[in-house]
Amino acid sequence: METLTKTQAIQGGEFLIRETEARDVFIPEEFSEEQRMMAQATQDFIDKEITPNIARMDSMEPGFMPALLDKAGALGLLGISVPEAYGGLGMSFNTSMLIADVIGSAGSFSTAYGAHTGIGTLPILYYGTEEQQQQYLPKLASGEWKACYCLTEPDAGSDANSGKTKAVLSEDGQYYKITGQKMWISNAGFADLFIVFARIENDKNLTAFIVEKSFGGITMNEEEKKMGIKGSSTRQVFFNDTPVPVENMLSSRGNGFKIAVNILNIGRIKLGAGVIGGCKETVTHSVRYANERRQFGVAISSFGAIKQKLATMATRIYATESACYRAGQDIEDRIQSLIDSGMPEAEAKLKGVEQFAIECAIMKVHASEVLDYCVDEGVQIYGGMGFSAEAPMERAYRDARISRIYEGTNEINRILLVGMTIKRAVKGEIDLMGPAMAVGKELTSIPDLNGKDTTGLLAKEKGVLKNLKKAILMVAGKAVQDFGAQLNDEQEILMSIADMMIEVYAAESALLRTEKLISMRGETDCQQQINMAKLYLYMAVDKIQAKGKEAIVSFAKGDEQKVMMMGLKRFTKFDAYNVKELRRSVADYLIEKNVYAF
Ligand SMILES: Cc1cc2nc3c(=O)[nH]c(=O)nc-3n(C[C@H](O)[C@H](O)[C@H](O)COP(=O)(O)OP(=O)(O)OC[C@H]3O[C@@H](n4cnc5c(N)ncnc54)[C@H](O)[C@@H]3O)c2cc1C
Repeated sequence: METLTKTQAIQGGEFLIRETEARDVFIPEEFSEEQRMMAQATQDFIDKEITPNIARMDSMEPGFMPALLDKAGALGLLGISVPEAYGGLGMSFNTSMLIADVIGSAGSFSTAYGAHTGIGTLPILYYGTEEQQQQYLPKLASGEWKACYCLTEPDAGSDANSGKTKAVLSEDGQYYKITGQKMWISNAGFADLFIVFARIENDKNLTAFIVEKSFGGITMNEEEKKMGIKGSSTRQVFFNDTPVPVENMLSSRGNGFKIAVNILNIGRIKLGAGVIGGCKETVTHSVRYANERRQFGVAISSFGAIKQKLATMATRIYATESACYRAGQDIEDRIQSLIDSGMPEAEAKLKGVEQFAIECAIMKVHASEVLDYCVDEGVQIYGGMGFSAEAPMERAYRDARISRIYEGTNEINRILLVGMTIKRAVKGEIDLMGPAMAVGKELTSIPDLNGKDTTGLLAKEKGVLKNLKKAILMVAGKAVQDFGAQLNDEQEILMSIADMMIEVYAAESALLRTEKLISMRGETDCQQQINMAKLYLYMAVDKIQAKGKEAIVSFAKGDEQKVMMMGLKRFTKFDAYNVKELRRSVADYLIEKNVYAF
C-alpha cells in the first residue's frame, strides 16, 4: 500500500487502500482559539438556558423551544454555516461540526437545532437562487423564522423518492398547488418555513419547494407521543392545495431527490458530531455517580466491572471523535481546494461533502452506536437510579435511540457506504480492485513481515491496521467477484463489510490522532490517549474478525472458504495487550478527573 503524501488530495473511501500520515489529519486538539471560544459560548448557553430547564423543554411548554431557538439565533448559533452576506457567521465546516458536538448534550434542543440549521436551512443555502437566499437566509440565521424539512411520508420512509405528495401547476402557470401528507416532521409545530418534496406529474424524481406557512393550506396532526427527544416538535403535516409561487421551486424540476440525498450527507456527519456532546456528558454523569455511590463500603468506581465500562465508553468516544473531525477537515479541505480552483462556493460545499459521502455514512452509524452504547452503560452504572426519571440517565437513554433511525437508518447507511465504495471502484475513482487482487495473491504466498515492524511507538499498531485493511479487501473483493451486481441482494454480507470498514476507519483515526498528539505534546502527556488507541484497535480487531468470518461463511465454500479463513486469521493476527490494565489506567484517570477529560 502506498503512503499518502500531503500533495495528494485524499479521495473519499480511499482510507481503505491508502495509508494516511498523522500529519495529514486534523485532530480536535488543533481547534483554534476562536473556535474554542465559540464552543464555550455555546456551552454557556446550554448551561444557562437549557440544563436548568430540561423539564420545561421536555414537557413541551408552549413557546419554550421556539424561544430557545430565538436566543440561539441572537448568539449567532443559527447562522454558523450561513455566509456573513446573509446575516450568518460564515464559519468553516469543522466549526459547524464543533458547535453541533457541543449542542449534542442539550437533549431535544439538539434535534430542533439540527432540523432548523441543517435540513431546514441548508437546501436554500446550497440550492437557492440569489433571490431566495436573500429573502430567506437572514430570517433563518437570526431565528426570526424557524424551518423544517418535509421529506418523509407514511408510505415513503427509507424509500424517500417514492413519496406521493403532488405539485400541480396552476392554470395561469404562476403557482404549484401542493397536496400530500408528510410524517415525522421535526419543528413542524412552530415552523414558518417548510422545505417540501413533491412530485410533478409522473416525474421519476421529486422536486423541492420552499413553502411559507403563510401560503395557507397547511394543517397538522397533534404532536407525536415519542419515546425520547420529547421536547422537540414532531408532527404530521398536511398540504391541501397549498399554493406555492413557481419562483419558490428549489433548484430545478426533478432535482429534489438529489437535494435530499446531498443534504442528508451533511446531516449524517453533523449527526455524528452532534452525538459526541451527549456521549461525553454521559461519561461525566456516570463517573461522578460512580465516585459518589458507595456499596460494600467503597465507591462503586473502585470496582473493576465499573472501570471496564467507563474506560470502554471513553475509548469509543475518543475514536468516534477522532474520525468525525478527521472527515470534517477532509471535507473542509476539499471545499477550499474547489473554491480555489474557481468553483462557486455553494457548489464547492456540496461537491466537497459528496466526495466524502462514504465517511459521512460511516460517522452517522459509528457515532450513533457509540452513543447508544454509552447511554446503555450509563444506565447500568446508575443501577436502579438509571431506571428512574429522577436521574439523568433515563432521559439520555430514551433521547439517544432516535439517532440510529433518522438521517437514514443505520441499515440504509451501512448498505449505502459499501455500495458507494464499490461504485467508485467500478468507475475507477478509487483503485479497490488492484489492491484486492494483490491481497488475493498474498493469500497463497508465504506471509511477509507486514505488520511485524515493531520499531517506533504505535508502529506495531499501524502494521496491524494495514493488515485489517487487507482483510476487508479480501472479503469485499471476493464478494464483488462472486456476486457482481447481485451483491446488492446480499444485505447480510454488505452489513458485515460495512462494519469492517467502519471499525478500520475509527481505529485508524484514533491511532493517527494519538500519533499526532504525541508529536505535539510528547509521549508522557499522551499516556491515556495511547492506551485508548490501543484498546480501540483491540476491539476493532475482534469485530473485524467476527464480521469477516460471518461474511466468508455466508458465501465462500470448500477450499476457497478454507483459504479465506486462513487469510482472515493472518490479516487479523494481533499480539493482544493486557486490556484489563489498559482499561484500568484509562478509568483511573477519569475517576481522578471526575469528568470526561479528553
Ligand atoms: C423523531 C423523528 C424525527 C424525524 N424528523 C424528520 C424530519 O424532520 N423530516 C423528515 O422528512 N423525516 C423525519 N423523520 C423520518 C425519518 O427520517 C424516518 O423515520 C427514517 O428515514 C426511516 O423511515 P421509516 O420510519 O419509514 O422506516 P422504514 O423505512 O419503514 O424502515 C423500517 C425498517 O426497515 C429497514 N429498511 C427499510 N428499507 C430497507 C432496505 N432497503 N434494506 C434494508 N432495510 C431496510 C430500516 O432500516 C428500518 O429498520 C423523523 C423521524 C423521527 C422518528
